Amino acid sequence: MDNYDVVVIGAGPGGYVAAIRCAQLGLKTACVERGVYAEGKPTLGGTCLNVGCIPSKALLDSSHHFEHLQLHAKEHGIDADGVSMNVGRMQKRKDKIVKTLTMGIAGLFKKNAVTWLEGSGKLQPNHKVDVCDRDGNTLSTVVAKNIIIATGSIPAAIPPAPVDQENIVDSTGALAFDSVPETLGVIGAGVIGLELGSVWRRLGAKVTIFEALPEFLPSADKAVAKEAKKLLGRQGLDLRLGTMVTATDTAGDKVKVTYTGDDGEQTLEFDKLIVAVGRVPSTAGLGAAEVDLALDDRGFIIVDDECRSNLDGIYAVGDVVRGPMLAHKASEEGIAVAERIAGQSPHIDLGLVPWVIYTWPEIAWVGKTEQELSGAGRPTAIGTFPFIASGRGRAMGELDGFIKIIADAKDDTVLGVHIIGPGASELIAEAVLAMEFGASAEDIARTVHAHPTLSEGLHEAALGVDSRTIHI
Ligand code: FAD
Ligand code: AMP
Repeated sequence: MDNYDVVVIGAGPGGYVAAIRCAQLGLKTACVERGVYAEGKPTLGGTCLNVGCIPSKALLDSSHHFEHLQLHAKEHGIDADGVSMNVGRMQKRKDKIVKTLTMGIAGLFKKNAVTWLEGSGKLQPNHKVDVCDRDGNTLSTVVAKNIIIATGSIPAAIPPAPVDQENIVDSTGALAFDSVPETLGVIGAGVIGLELGSVWRRLGAKVTIFEALPEFLPSADKAVAKEAKKLLGRQGLDLRLGTMVTATDTAGDKVKVTYTGDDGEQTLEFDKLIVAVGRVPSTAGLGAAEVDLALDDRGFIIVDDECRSNLDGIYAVGDVVRGPMLAHKASEEGIAVAERIAGQSPHIDLGLVPWVIYTWPEIAWVGKTEQELSGAGRPTAIGTFPFIASGRGRAMGELDGFIKIIADAKDDTVLGVHIIGPGASELIAEAVLAMEFGASAEDIARTVHAHPTLSEGLHEAALGVDSRTIHI
């Protein structure tokens, strides 16, 4: 039986990063991964690289270029009449990007001497892990001083809309359409529903999004959510808040969706329907019950602040544990656990994990929202700066959105930064770094920002906290 210092189960951004960091620290490491995402062959990279972050961003970029040419080429002096989209070529590009990156992980495993055990990891007593085939037969058994579980998450299902990956698809199916549906329904106005809805709308689909909650993006700052609702609606996304999908009926090529809302029960027909109602932790086949690994009532592995499970020497990271279901959160937890196993004392502040929604304009935030702070009775000072007043924004033709910095009214510490606008996904990094270092708004206001850049908006918003914005 092969013996390891660490066996990692799952090779998504939590697991593969943990495995590489363990190996860097001199620990003999193996990673068990079962995922077969394309071409019938197992691949590393998990949800994120195969059917999540990366393919969705590839399609968002392609569709953004297409829409930009259609709507804005003329004003730049570019005649691009009659541009058309070749969906097959767009999908091939996406597949190539995924393949390059997932093969890259295999290369990194080789370089770092991480052993990839192909199969499904099943926990056994005494720190043993069975590596099983798809039918549950044991291919091999390994033993490890430490085990890191990084089995991630899978799309949540709802009874009224059973996924068949033909007419009714989950996020994986929605990344693989081979043509643009004329009409597309989306259940769920969360991050995934908005991003995938945006891709197909930009390519020409008439998109309707059903959202059970009456409030749009409830975890975002209210001002950002309001602006996003206005801008996405203006782009043509038909956002139906406070509507609950109660039944679907697939007849031929069409899906009939029954939903209830303020106007009672209604039906609408679509070519395709995406179910994007969230994700649930993935522990099927892991053998959690057999070894008494504690799960909470929603199926997440229970861990402490340092990702320790209830079992000695067994850790869990990423989507399968509490906290935001985001790739960078999974990776940082993976690194921290590897360092902890190696005797170091790492630390992650889960309160400073940045959130990004890759619509256009992009939406990004870190820290507390204004409503959270006012709910907690914390006095704040707020500075905002709209992109309409940004020189770079104007040069780019990107005038929508704003940056909002919320600071403590007494000591000026930055408590939250909220951006809706061009390049928000990149701009937020400055805010995260500032907050990680405990910066005040004054620190950002006294930092020289290059001109003309979108990042000057952060500078101006920081000046605005002290009511001394220059350009508005
Ligand atoms: P996963 O990436 O889910 O990986 C877990 C792996 O474990 C899987 O490959 C699975 O096959 C394997 N596994 C499970 N059980 C076993 C077992 N018993 N034995 C062996 N292997 C097993 N996040 C972002 O931060 N930014 C984004 O832009 C973003 N976009 C997204 C877009 C979409 C469409 C989706 C679906 C998700 C997106 N996410 C995004 C979320 C992100 O993908 C997840 O947060 C991230 O993948 C979680 O990483 P993980 O390592 O915990 O799990
Ligand atoms: P997220 O968890 O951020 O991906 O968002 C998923 C969204 O789907 C949540 O905001 C839910 O309110 C919404 N949702 C879940 N079930 C339904 C349903 N049957 N009809 C409409 N919206 C739903």
